[in-house]
Amino acid sequence: MIDDCPKCHGTGIVKEKDGSVHTCWDCLQRGKFDVHSENVPDSKIRV
Ligand SMILES: [Zn+2]
Repeated sequence: MIDDCPKCHGTGIVKEKDGSVHTCWDCLQRGKFDVHSENVPDSKIRV
């Protein structure tokens, strides 16, 4: 995660205005968020 990420503020989770939450794509793309997502093409981390 990125501590100063403007979208998730270091939480790795983005809260939308409508109340839904999802993982922070910015952090994902920077490769610092070890999420267990199936949508990460080159994920090094498998859970
Ligand atoms: Zn983020």
